[in-house]
Amino acid sequence: MRALALTKNGNPFEIINIDEPQITKANQVKIKIYGTGICGGDLSDYLNPPTLNSSQLILGHEYSGEIVELGAKATNFKVGDKVIAESSAGCEECFYCRNGYTNLCPDRKGISGSFTDYIVVPERYVYRLPAETSLDLAILSEPLACVLNGIEKTQLRAGDLTVVVGPGPLGILTAFLADLKGAAVILVGRSSSQKRLEIAHNKLNLEVINSDLVDPGKYIKKINSYGADVVFGCAGSEKIIDFALKILKKGGSYTELGLFHGSKITIDFEKIVKKELKVTGAVSHRPDSWNRLLKLYKRNDLNELSKIISSKYELKNWKTAFENLKERKDLKAVLY
Ligand SMILES: [Zn+2]
Ligand SMILES: [Zn+2]
Repeated sequence: MRALALTKNGNPFEIINIDEPQITKANQVKIKIYGTGICGGDLSDYLNPPTLNSSQLILGHEYSGEIVELGAKATNFKVGDKVIAESSAGCEECFYCRNGYTNLCPDRKGISGSFTDYIVVPERYVYRLPAETSLDLAILSEPLACVLNGIEKTQLRAGDLTVVVGPGPLGILTAFLADLKGAAVILVGRSSSQKRLEIAHNKLNLEVINSDLVDPGKYIKKINSYGADVVFGCAGSEKIIDFALKILKKGGSYTELGLFHGSKITIDFEKIVKKELKVTGAVSHRPDSWNRLLKLYKRNDLNELSKIISSKYELKNWKTAFENLKERKDLKAVLY
């Protein structure tokens, strides 16, 4: 079967031929992949290819699909079930795994690689979709689970003036879920993301500001002279943190969902002390995030979100998909 992989000789990616994976352990299931969303992480691998430990790495981890085969002890599913799956597995034994924080496990391993036709994963990391949830919407499950984990870490109450900075898929999903919790949400982005801001506003009814046209600090202080209750940073940027420390009201909360890829940044820590701010980070997702996601699917609370899937490509057209994402022509692109 064909798969999109990062390879030593690729440029940096290429389509390779691999054997169909087989169930080798009793607790595994085999999933026929329906489609996979291109993640910001995949795009960053495309733009700045990392050094590979192996000769090839199959990419893709935001997928939905259907069970086609079960290991002898994988009794929670049946063939034909529509499913989603986590993208990594904890060791199951450490302190974090035993307490449900598999995202913090020091031995966490990827169990993904879904830009292809089939994948084999341990049953424990697979979740059955409610009958009413479409496989298209479910492609957003992995980033949604990340956002749910981040929102759980944040003291977010109904009515909180909440600013989400960075209108990529993660930012838009954060704004949507915060809005669902009853927060008064403003999504902030720059002219380079104008198209994404328009999708968020026109298709999802979110309040947005283009910070190149409107001073977001003034805009927020006009709504509440004390400032924002909560800010989510969704791009891993020093500038966003600077901005957040300025516009948060005393006692407010900042949550970072982006990554800085190893670069150290300078922040005015004294503001955190003097304003008594709560600052937290959130990385990836844990089983609880997925279970809560299933409840939102079941209530049909997330159906509108399938509108952020702005383009669908066949796997062979992967290059066009990545180039369009690079130019920010797409919001969430999916390879089928
Ligand atoms: Zn992702
Ligand atoms: Zn562990």
